Amino acid sequence: MTAISFEYFPPKTPEGRSKLLESTTPALQALDPAFFSVTYGAGGSTRDNTFGVVKALREQGLDVAPHLSFGADDAESMAALLERYRELGVTRLVALRGDIPSGMGGSGQLVYASELVAFVRERTGDHFHIEVAAYPEIHPQAESYQKDLHYLKAKLDAGANSAITQYFYNVEAYFYFLDQCAAIGIDKPIHAGIMPITNFNNLARFSRNCGAEIPRWICKRIEGYGDDQESIRKFGIEVVTQLCQTLVDNGAPGIHFYTMNQVEPTREIYRNLGL
Ligand code: FAD
Repeated sequence: MTAISFEYFPPKTPEGRSKLLESTTPALQALDPAFFSVTYGAGGSTRDNTFGVVKALREQGLDVAPHLSFGADDAESMAALLERYRELGVTRLVALRGDIPSGMGGSGQLVYASELVAFVRERTGDHFHIEVAAYPEIHPQAESYQKDLHYLKAKLDAGANSAITQYFYNVEAYFYFLDQCAAIGIDKPIHAGIMPITNFNNLARFSRNCGAEIPRWICKRIEGYGDDQESIRKFGIEVVTQLCQTLVDNGAPGIHFYTMNQVEPTREIYRNLGL
């Protein structure tokens, strides 16, 4: 059975926060996800916001996984944050290296995710189920495909329980990646990260930086619709439903939706799958 989870980012405004908690969450909770997750801004820039949203979701009784990375924090601040999450009843984390925030130039120091995983295990034992990031189309800064796989294994060997992938539209890249992971002895679940197509221009810009390829045929088809937003919407749902259906039919252990804090189109895609 394919587990489903939903990712949020912490809203910047009180209105965005109310909408997320009072309208989006009940609608997505009705789909019975395994958990929600809440992202963490580069360099800890959303620390309080992420914590606040996680707390509010916990108060609704939900299973929620905060994302976290060291950023500019020292070990004691990180240990204190882990303790605050433990007190909220959080039992799952997404552990990341993160990126250097724009504006900091190249001067920032980043702690690899494998080191964060080892730190969490050292300080909190087996309390948290730890997810890490995986890249079927390979992390943009990776030295090579093989090295990136090796570092994924290092994160899992350091004590992470499972991985969630960067989004992809080339389904073969994901299944090839699973085979390559198995070949080097990775036996933990690697859930597929899925980005529904909402704002195509933003998606195209973001994809250039994060190492996710939008296939040419998808770009061309969308370009061909011009300003016809309804046709773009329908096509996006069709393409991502097919992608998810192939994942489900071929035994992907989980699908993690990057919801962009919206009910649709995630809900429509989910319903199309008949899960
Ligand atoms: P790592 O696993 O540490 O890897 C980073 C790079 O370093 C890779 O190229 C890897 O090959 C290489 N590497 C790893 N270990 C070593 C080593 N020991 N020596 C040399 N090279 C090494 N970003 C955010 O800012 N906030 C979020 O909430 C967030 N959530 C995410 C959730 C998911 C599911 C995914 C897939 C990504 C998320 N990101 C988030 C993006 C992520 O922070 C970036 O992709 C970041 O550049 C890498 O983080 P990582 O944890 O994968 O890093």
